[in-house]
Amino acid sequence: MATVQEAEGKKKARASRFEAEIIEIIDEAPDVKTFRLSCPQDWTFLPGQFVMIWFRDVFGNDKRAYSISSSPHTTAQGFFDLTIKLYGKFTHHLWTLDVGDIIETRGPFGRFTLNIDSSAPVVGIAGGVGVTPIFSMMRYLIEQKSERKMVLFYSNRQPEEIVFFKELIYYEKLLPNFHVVNTLTRLKPERHWRWPGLRGRFSKEVYAEYLPKYLDGILDIPEFYICGTVPMIESTIIALQELGYPEEAIKFEKFW
Ligand SMILES: Cc1cc2nc3c(=O)[nH]c(=O)nc-3n(C[C@H](O)[C@H](O)[C@H](O)COP(=O)(O)OP(=O)(O)OC[C@H]3O[C@@H](n4cnc5c(N)ncnc54)[C@H](O)[C@@H]3O)c2cc1C
Repeated sequence: MATVQEAEGKKKARASRFEAEIIEIIDEAPDVKTFRLSCPQDWTFLPGQFVMIWFRDVFGNDKRAYSISSSPHTTAQGFFDLTIKLYGKFTHHLWTLDVGDIIETRGPFGRFTLNIDSSAPVVGIAGGVGVTPIFSMMRYLIEQKSERKMVLFYSNRQPEEIVFFKELIYYEKLLPNFHVVNTLTRLKPERHWRWPGLRGRFSKEVYAEYLPKYLDGILDIPEFYICGTVPMIESTIIALQELGYPEEAIKFEKFW
């Protein structure tokens, strides 16, 4: 498959404003939905970027940012995905919408983008719905049939909350270069025996165990892409630096 630029022909990831129609709404997890939105023919984005949305009739100039969870390849089919967790005023309004409704959208924006010209391993570290931009990057690489090693460290509270779980397990079974390390931070004790992944927050010790295991024999310094809350990002950066990974290898996106 061609790269973003080749596949998209003359399309450029330049910000523009457009009216996106909701084509489909997909239930991903309790309180998490994917909104599949239409986009103009000449529009695309880089894996990891986000769009801004407005509901001017309801909230005036107030706006929210949402990372794109699909790969840029989908824009050739006229759509892109936002995967959103129900939380406050904007998301409650989004939950009242239906297929055919229109959302004022502007984008793409952001520098939290996959380095598509590199062959270094890609390590994603995500908390909850913070997986969205990282999943766009990994979907892009998988659709490109890239041989780059990919490791996703993915933290959630309960098993039901793991967004894209089936797709992740499928990729891990199918692709020798893709691995996911799941952890749950609030698993009820009576469910421990059924959970095959890790428990508790990711730590320096977890990265020290799994990075050499999955990146064995690779000399390139991995590229780290971290997305989640500010405390999660800060503690992850400290852990990676203590393990000797350089600051330049770490990119992050703060959601809250
Ligand atoms: C670059 C960027 C990309 C983003 N991408 C996504 C995305 O892909 N999917 C997505 O669901 N959200 C994403 N967000 C968050 C999104 O912009 C909104 O903040 C979120 O949807 C809540 O908006 P709201 O109006 O429903 O809640 P508000 O009414 O604004 O919520 C009130 C307060 O809760 C905090 N808050 C909101 N959500 C959470 C949460 N889940 N956990 C802890 N605190 C929270 C906010 O900081 C705010 O102070 C992204 C944010 C940024 C900056």
